[in-house]
Amino acid sequence: LINIPEMPLFAVLDEAAKKYPEHQAISFLGSQLTYQELKNSVDHFATALSKIGVQKGTRVAIMLPNCPQIIISYYAVLRLGGIVVMTNPIYVERELIYQLKDSGAEVIIYLDQFKQKVANVFPNTSLKLSISTGIQDFMALLAGLYSKKVEATQVNGPEIYYFEDLIQSGEIDLPEVSINVELDLAVLQYTGGTTGISKAAMLSHKNLFTNVVQTRLWLNNMEEAKERFFCVLPFFHVFAMTTCMNLAIYLCSTMIVIPRLEISNLLKQIQESQPTVFQAVPSLYAAIVSNQEVKNYNLSSIKTCLSGGAPLPMEVQERFEAITGGKLVEGYGLTEAAPVTHCNPISGRRIKGSIGLPIPMTYYKIAELLKGEKEVPVGVPGELCIKGPQIMMGYWNKPEETRLALRDGWLYTGDIATMDEDGYTYIVDRKKDMVITSGYNVYPREVEEVLFSYPKVQEAAVVGIPDKSRGEVLKAYLVLKEGEQCTKEEIIGFCRKQLAKYKVPKQVEFRTSLPKTIVGKVLRRILAEENI
Ligand code: ATP
Repeated sequence: LINIPEMPLFAVLDEAAKKYPEHQAISFLGSQLTYQELKNSVDHFATALSKIGVQKGTRVAIMLPNCPQIIISYYAVLRLGGIVVMTNPIYVERELIYQLKDSGAEVIIYLDQFKQKVANVFPNTSLKLSISTGIQDFMALLAGLYSKKVEATQVNGPEIYYFEDLIQSGEIDLPEVSINVELDLAVLQYTGGTTGISKAAMLSHKNLFTNVVQTRLWLNNMEEAKERFFCVLPFFHVFAMTTCMNLAIYLCSTMIVIPRLEISNLLKQIQESQPTVFQAVPSLYAAIVSNQEVKNYNLSSIKTCLSGGAPLPMEVQERFEAITGGKLVEGYGLTEAAPVTHCNPISGRRIKGSIGLPIPMTYYKIAELLKGEKEVPVGVPGELCIKGPQIMMGYWNKPEETRLALRDGWLYTGDIATMDEDGYTYIVDRKKDMVITSGYNVYPREVEEVLFSYPKVQEAAVVGIPDKSRGEVLKAYLVLKEGEQCTKEEIIGFCRKQLAKYKVPKQVEFRTSLPKTIVGKVLRRILAEENI
């Protein structure tokens, strides 16, 4: 049994600043920030937020790319007992309105280039004021190169404050706030929206803090104050929030903060910044290993990597490890679990194609698909259910969805999985994406893997489409590798040799790209909707 201290999440930064005040916390576009400077900035910003009305329970939307301001804002809101609502800067107005209205956010902290978007959505939300920042402004402030912007103005909507002006407005004066780590909400984190409308998982301080410690215990080759995290995945997504930002701070590491993913520049950035930890999603690992230039760069500083969010192809894992010499382990998680629940061990038996074992203090079962209470035998697919201190308190404003997802203390993940004799778990597919054709259950992922193995295919997605006699039939969407040509018959012929007849797609469509979420997951539901 492991004893995890009951601390509010923001205490990890207080500890880091106490232990290693002069250690580099952030490296951003050539400028640096120590832990003491980071903590001071958080305390100044929290003071200013408190003066303009942010208090315990206030929802504050943060709509920023990776930059020091997103880290400072996140920790400052938590410090006041406020609730962070992480928002994707590329959301269109409709998506933004939904999230702001649903969460009841009263304040938004955003990148200045989105000023018009914020002004447009303002009347349809509960926003009262907004705080703007420019991507380079905070570092300019530290370097003494920032000049004060206009006082709070009213531009067709929310009162606008400027992040850097707020941060330098007066002495630190923080209110006393008592936090119940188990019951007080820290973050309202919206799910990826891969299978439907995105819902906000209510994550407490305990959920988030515990998941950081659990991940650290599992990835046990990392050393305090020695690691350099390459932070290119957006912090507004729960994977990077926990396994890059919060974990890096917990380990008093340096965060190499990358505001925008540019594949063409990525290898150079890695070589120059010498990270030891590189957390990413499978599509990013795949982009690196298939980059023609990769041989010309030295990526050998990388030693620990976690992949999650989608299946990691074995070939990508092997090639990435061969290129870097580091260890890349596949894990699994979901927003509702803050997010990590399973992972392959960093030292010990790793099984390719498996999401590994439950991380410390995490329990799981594979439940019958229909009724969901009874466990299925080894090797039989069922719904993956999780229990542990990282599991959310419920969905915000959605009691019915909460009742379906949280039953008898278990989180029903909506993912179909199998377990082997040693407890290693394998994701089969998502319950919602399962196709029933002529009475047979088909998991699209199995068909996609076959299609993916065809040498001309770059990407594949399979969905069920309505069919009068069979209920549903399979349709494959394919992106071919550059310069390749292929016919529908060729694909179907290949599938016939590899799959039972009912699993062979009846329709094939070629595309130049597939719709994806920001973390690179193919949006099968968008493709399926085209056929209704
Ligand atoms: P929504 O819940 O709104 O449909 P989403 O599922 O994409 O969106 P996230 O919480 O970001 O929301 O993603 C969690 C999901 O990602 C898991 O339920 C699972 O389907 C998938 N996933 C995560 N890790 C893996 C993995 N290693 N292999 C396969 N699938 C994975």
